[in-house]
Amino acid sequence: MTQRTLVLLKPDAVRRGLIGEIISRIERKAGWTISALELRTLDQDTLEQHYGEHKGKPFYEPLVDFMASGPVVALVVEGERVIEGLRALAGPTDPIAAAPGSIRGDYGVIVRENLIHASDSEESAERELKIFFPGRF
Ligand code: GDP
Ligand code: MG
Repeated sequence: MTQRTLVLLKPDAVRRGLIGEIISRIERKAGWTISALELRTLDQDTLEQHYGEHKGKPFYEPLVDFMASGPVVALVVEGERVIEGLRALAGPTDPIAAAPGSIRGDYGVIVRENLIHASDSEESAERELKIFFPGRF
């Protein structure tokens, strides 16, 4: 089942110089392809669309501020079961609960600054690809 997913390397990953490290983990998975890749600083409107499901939660405003605090790397990754696969590679939301070997488990400590976003379902991937790469996928 070939899929596409949206990945964001969050501002903490970019600031800490972990772009190459994280992308190389994605590249090592057999048969997955990076079909778009761009460094960009996200505006409030994009973040509001992207994280709309969390609006009203206590962590929402600090999350949006953090996500706008510096450039992110936005990627589209394509391949066999890539949605589930990237969620597994990233690890659970809380980096302390994430297993060593996962990206969040290896590099993260605090929940907000957990290095990476990856779409959580086919519906989310479709929605998020339209936000970040309109008209391209
Ligand atoms: P994800 O799909 O694993 O990224 O997690 P969610 O969609 O639930 O949340 C989106 C992002 O909000 C997470 O990746 C974290 O950066 C942040 N976040 C989620 N839950 C919390 C929380 O309880 N506290 C804080 N500070 N941040 C959170
Ligand atoms: Mg999510």
